[in-house]
Amino acid sequence: MVQSTATTPKTTTEPAGPCPNYRDCIETGPHDHHFNHTLRLRSDSGELLADGGMVADEDGPVVYLRGEDFHDAASLHAATARVRQMLDELDAMATRAFADHEARG
Ligand SMILES: [Zn+2]
Repeated sequence: MVQSTATTPKTTTEPAGPCPNYRDCIETGPHDHHFNHTLRLRSDSGELLADGGMVADEDGPVVYLRGEDFHDAASLHAATARVRQMLDELDAMATRAFADHEARG
């Protein structure tokens, strides 16, 4: 069982943070360096399974997944699609592995 401590916005209208420039920025007060490093996915034992977030300055935003930076939404979406596919394949592998183990008695 895996628990996520963060929510994933389903639309581009969420969330409504205090920053006037970036909705996902969690910095408060006057600032030029915007960020959000709160997306963390941990296992029940506390192991970090995935993390992502964003930073932005006068050059624009960068969104990251683990150690990889993405400079546009389409590139990030392509990467997360690959992650979803990998997770589906891992689910199938787990089903086969435990079923094969059970079948061996
Ligand atoms: Zn900000």
